[in-house]
Amino acid sequence: MGQYPDAQRRNTAAAVSSTGSKLDSYVDRYATRTHGMTASEVRSLFAVASRPEVVSLAGGMPNISGLPLDVVGSLLSELIEKRGTTALQYGSGQGDPQLREQICDVMRPVGVHGHPDDVTVTVGSQQALDLITRIFIDPGDVILAEAPSYVGALSTFRSYQADVVHVEMDDDGLVPERVRQAIATVQASGRTIKFLYTIPNYHNPAGVTLTAQRRQEILGICQDAGVLIVEDDPYGLLGFDGDVPRAMRADDPEGVIYLGSFSKTFAPGFRVGWTLAPHAVREKLVLAAESSVLCPPAFSQLAVSEYLSGHDWRGQVKAFRELYRERCDAMLGALDDLMPAGAHWTRPRGGFYVWLTLPAGLDTKAMLPRAVTNRVAYVPGTAFYADGFGSRSMRLSFCYPTPDRIREGVRRLAQVIEQEMEL
Ligand code: PMP
Repeated sequence: MGQYPDAQRRNTAAAVSSTGSKLDSYVDRYATRTHGMTASEVRSLFAVASRPEVVSLAGGMPNISGLPLDVVGSLLSELIEKRGTTALQYGSGQGDPQLREQICDVMRPVGVHGHPDDVTVTVGSQQALDLITRIFIDPGDVILAEAPSYVGALSTFRSYQADVVHVEMDDDGLVPERVRQAIATVQASGRTIKFLYTIPNYHNPAGVTLTAQRRQEILGICQDAGVLIVEDDPYGLLGFDGDVPRAMRADDPEGVIYLGSFSKTFAPGFRVGWTLAPHAVREKLVLAAESSVLCPPAFSQLAVSEYLSGHDWRGQVKAFRELYRERCDAMLGALDDLMPAGAHWTRPRGGFYVWLTLPAGLDTKAMLPRAVTNRVAYVPGTAFYADGFGSRSMRLSFCYPTPDRIREGVRRLAQVIEQEMEL
């Protein structure tokens, strides 16, 4: 700040930052790509929503209270004792070779037989999204994405000035015919579709899972049209019945980039995710990763690697699944019992989220302040669309609160919705 003369500051003193709340004397210097980087309009409400008296059905934080912290603690101290000089050093830009081999084992249950050379370790799968967007997107290029879609992906796409075209979903996930139509419409307009971004399993925020048959259909449609698929799969091992849907990447190694993460199966604090990409793409990804972080953190990677080799990580995933299933059952039971007629919602078979849609005429963003006053919070549906849709919907997360708190939260929410319907 100190290096800029006061006169320059005064020149732009009237500038208003993207939050609209503070003066920003740098506003005329930011790159165009920052114009889409706006703070969430509901961020200030979430500060209130984090108070203990509010039941937050808003956040999607993994429930790491299910992790044995003593086990993690001894793993970390052993790591420093035995491999401290490696764990605290820079490492390879592509990621630790042993961890990349282990990642190939982790992907086997979803039917993916990848080669460690094609795996790139990333700082969470969020960095993978950033890298993929960086290497593929020029301003104005089109990305197809489900309607609704993961908010963190949308903000990355926006920051690279991509044009997101949403494609309809239903309770069985992305609708193949709509994918075909979207591709035809975009291609007819002469624009380039760089990829289809999809979350086939236990979707964030919609809670639905793409059927096996539709996976095949969508793979076929994208192959015919030459559209790359980016398959984002952080929840794939968290199916409540223990079912692990087959990844799209399993059936098309050249046409799909697969994204995985240890955030939901171990702990998000390590920030370890990965991509499995066609060989040529992998090379570009590593170059892009090196230019942004040099290498993923060695300490986190080795911690995850030790955890995978020395602990019953599959047993822990099973424990997580059970914990989330109990909470999901609590939410669905409460919705069945308490929601007013006219509201409808998805019935997830895994993951963290339920997508609730209210009767016509209601607006979940406008309703949020009243919900927070009634001590319950959710994320309004518009956050998950690039084009302003979703105003009748909201995302409810069942991953964090206890079953009792979930039921109480849904009760409070139902009250607010009923009051809103009477207005
Ligand atoms: N993709 C999806 C669909 C997600 O829900 C999340 C986290 N909520 C991410 C990617 C990013 O996860 P991480 O960076 O922690 O791996």
